Amino acid sequence: MVFQTALILLLLRPLVALTLASATASASPLPLRLLSTPPEELREHFGWPAMERTSVDKSLIVWSALRKGINVLDPDECAATKYVSPNLHRQLVEACAPVSPLTLATSSISEDGTQKLLVALADGLSVECVIIPMHGGKHTSLCVSSQVGCSRGCAFCSTGTMGLVRSLTTEEILAQVWTAVRAVRERGLPPLVNVVFMGMGEPLNNFEAVERAVRLLVHPEGFALSRRNVCVSTVGPSPALIARAGTLPCRLAWSVHAAQDPLRKLLVPTTAHPMATLRDAFLGALVTKPGGDKARGLLVELALMRGVNDQPEHAAALAHLLRPLGRGDVLVNLIPYNENGLGLPNGPLFQPSRLEDVYAFQRHMWSEGVLCTVRATRGATERSACGQLATEVADAAAARRQPKRAAAPVVGEQQQVS
Ligand code: SF4
Repeated sequence: MVFQTALILLLLRPLVALTLASATASASPLPLRLLSTPPEELREHFGWPAMERTSVDKSLIVWSALRKGINVLDPDECAATKYVSPNLHRQLVEACAPVSPLTLATSSISEDGTQKLLVALADGLSVECVIIPMHGGKHTSLCVSSQVGCSRGCAFCSTGTMGLVRSLTTEEILAQVWTAVRAVRERGLPPLVNVVFMGMGEPLNNFEAVERAVRLLVHPEGFALSRRNVCVSTVGPSPALIARAGTLPCRLAWSVHAAQDPLRKLLVPTTAHPMATLRDAFLGALVTKPGGDKARGLLVELALMRGVNDQPEHAAALAHLLRPLGRGDVLVNLIPYNENGLGLPNGPLFQPSRLEDVYAFQRHMWSEGVLCTVRATRGATERSACGQLATEVADAAAARRQPKRAAAPVVGEQQQVS
């Protein structure tokens, strides 16, 4: 019996060894992703003490370097900037994945200084983000993407032609910020203090990753941005998602585009709820903001297209829709539409509004007591303006979808849609 048992153990030994080896391998921790790891989790991971009289908080050293765009895993950058000691650098290199999965594929600068960065992801896909030096020269803004492509399919948007390819991780979202900080520093631009989620993708359809990114952006020991300077822009896919957005520690923007349900459905075909229902959900989200007040208000955005959604009846419908939100809590931002190449064989599908129509729309909102601004178009010469962001995948998808677009209802100057 003893002999038989010994024989069985002998025969099973390679299998046992293999099993143990794979168990050990699966138990080994994944490399740490620095940009998506807040200081308190860094402390916990490395067993570093928080700052006390007798010690220095290493997590704060690491994050003070990261928020300046310094690569703490690069020995040359550490030596040049002296933020991170050689010992700390070694400790980080052993535990962490490369600071960013992104490399810069291309970068182009518009005549007005707006810079579009095409960043390559580890799996070969790419996303775009846009650096916008603000007029007055005191600060710089960044528009980031939350997804590769987008499932909302807005009829006027380049990204919408891609469909959803995949959502970004928190690391990939924050790596856009980190990469932009480096670009801003290299160009000698004013500090990057504003981050808006208005690039590719619908942020609320990637809620967990976006939420963690927002929390790190406003973390006082992370990217340390003001909550007022971070904004998540959404079409408002559903009342439930809007309610979740109410828990984000940042400003919210609602991409309305049209207040009347039939026109909204035409411009944002995935709209599944009446606009009044979505409006009420935003009203609830503003009330349930952390702190329980509506102090941060709601930014309401419209991309204005000639003859489509820029006429007096459209302004009147918008004012009516927004009335329950309270006049002081809403700022309407009119964005003259940027042509983006989406079109039919005989011309573009949508055209920018005439300036006189934009300003007439603005005056109408003022007359209703609603604050209303007109956004200056930035970056149009390098296709980095609103609605123009799309990567190579998009161009291919757009080409495939041309016949479909041609068969869709034509919205143009001659056709009244309301
Ligand atoms: S406008 Fe925004 S929500 Fe609509 S398809 Fe484009 S990226 Fe998506």
